[in-house]
Amino acid sequence: MNPENHFPADYRQGRHEFIAACEKADIDVIARVHPQVQGRDGKPLFLDTAVIGPRAAKKALLLVSATHGVEGYFGSGVQTGLMREGLAARVPKDTKIVLLHALNPYGFSWDRRVNEDNADINRNCIDFANPPPNAPYDDLHAEISPRDISDESMHRANGRLVEFLKAHGAFALQEAISKGQYKYPDGVYYGGAREAWSLKMLKDVFTESLKHVKQLIAIDFHTGLGMFGAGEMITEDLPGSAPYKRAKAMWGDRVASSEAGESVSAPLSGTIDKAVATWLKGVELTFAALEVGTRDTRTVFNALRKDNWLHCFAPGREKNPKATEIRLELRDAFYPDTAEWKRMVWGHANEVVNSALAALA
Ligand SMILES: [Zn+2]
Repeated sequence: MNPENHFPADYRQGRHEFIAACEKADIDVIARVHPQVQGRDGKPLFLDTAVIGPRAAKKALLLVSATHGVEGYFGSGVQTGLMREGLAARVPKDTKIVLLHALNPYGFSWDRRVNEDNADINRNCIDFANPPPNAPYDDLHAEISPRDISDESMHRANGRLVEFLKAHGAFALQEAISKGQYKYPDGVYYGGAREAWSLKMLKDVFTESLKHVKQLIAIDFHTGLGMFGAGEMITEDLPGSAPYKRAKAMWGDRVASSEAGESVSAPLSGTIDKAVATWLKGVELTFAALEVGTRDTRTVFNALRKDNWLHCFAPGREKNPKATEIRLELRDAFYPDTAEWKRMVWGHANEVVNSALAALA
């Protein structure tokens, strides 16, 4: 099968094809239903998990899709493709592979990067009594997340962002926008005011399926940063540390530390990487996000601002006449629906999964 055929047209199809591929390989799928929200098709939403390999295995590979909802077209396609192409028969000795399909099924189904609370799952792992500050975002909230998206208003907002960029540099602006903020529920990159359902379920999966593991390699599939179709393995570990060295040995030049400023990503607050490290004390953990590029930064950022406007400020919200156009623009910003892009990113995913399996063998 051509790699582009592994990628779904929407969340529902992605889920069905993932489950079908698992069933064909004789692998059970455990479904966790979302207790509060439905999909765009009015049907229930699920976080699905498949586990390949012995229950008591001491080593594991974890593959996560749709942490950022709409980015799940990529991760879901990769998970389904891997299952269709025989992943179940390639499990190293004393190892299990855990596939977590659609960590944020709401965002995947509704073509949003965030969850039902307008919150970013990968900024949500914090102490809510003491959220991390983001003073530059506070100053620029109205410009980063505008209440009015008319050309005139956007022009004014962008003018202020350009002033900030000239004074502090592009990287500082990227950090102000994307690091995560905890004061404005109606802003982009909002980390939430409570632990997200997805996070609770992720903990549940760890308790159920990864409890006795001594060595874990985790890959979280993301899109939206970097050159079109490029692939980077983003780690939060610093150069020189043991996990960074393991990542380099496995994935080579693809590895880039966001905390050390090597990456297409700025340093972030409240990420899953950091949370998992605290859950798995004493475990040899190597965690990276495979980040694949889509559209240029400005296009992606503007799509996010419009999506935020639609859901937080627009008259009629999802019934606004611009809703479909904005949703499709956001979808395209994180999922260029072309065979060329799919082949490129499928290649990266395959390579990093193969390297992880080799390291566990
Ligand atoms: Zn992402």
